Formats: sequence, structure tokens, C-alpha cells
Amino acid sequence: MPDPQSAETLLCSFCRKPRSAVARLISSPGDGPRAYICDECVRVCESILDEDAARVTPPEASTTEPAEQHPLLTHPLVSPFLGAVERWIRQESLGGDAAAEFAEMRRLAGVLAGTASRPDSKRPRQ
Ligand SMILES: [Zn+2]
Repeated sequence: MPDPQSAETLLCSFCRKPRSAVARLISSPGDGPRAYICDECVRVCESILDEDAARVTPPEASTTEPAEQHPLLTHPLVSPFLGAVERWIRQESLGGDAAAEFAEMRRLAGVLAGTASRPDSKRPRQ
């Protein structure tokens, strides 16, 4: 029969409850000074770790972004098109005549979109 006195003096190192007051008292391993944790404190630790995990894990942030790149991003004319957009915006911001830049941008956009470019059919409203 184990010594009831020593069993009673074992305490949870976290909440200081005696072994008799908890369902389970788990001992640290090893030959050194022992630490003990009760089942209640383990559950508290678990809930703390769960809260941490919920905070660290981004709430499905990646699903809000497009999973795939737009198919036209790999089109060889994307770079020239963006260059044309840039020239058009720059020319517009300077207050100059940006018709040539706009026409070139529109032409490239038409090619990118796979539609025929007809600059005279839809003139930009100005
Ligand atoms: Zn405890």
C-alpha cells in the first residue's frame, strides 16, 4: 500500500492542487526534481494553444485571392501593352495630345483580347 501521506503532498506545480483533488496528476520525466501538472491545467494549456493556433492561422486569406493568374499575364504582348498604358497615362497627365498613345494602347488591347482593333469605330469620349 503506497504511503497516503506522500501521495497527498504531491501537488500540481501549476495550480497547487493536491493529487487527491484532481483526476490525474502527470509527472515530468527524468531523474531531476519533479514537476507535476494536473489534468485541469493540461486542459487550460490546450485551450491557450488552440487560441494561439487560431490567431496564427490566417482565416483562409489565400482563398480570397485568385488561385490562378489571368491567362493574358503570360501573353507576349502584355509587357508592350503595359508600356503603352504607361505612355498614355504619362501623356495624359502632361495635358498633351495622347491620341497616338491611346490608339496604340487600344490596338494592343484589341490584339490581347483577340478582337479586331478598329480605332475609328469607338472614339474615346473627351
Ligand atoms: Zn493543476
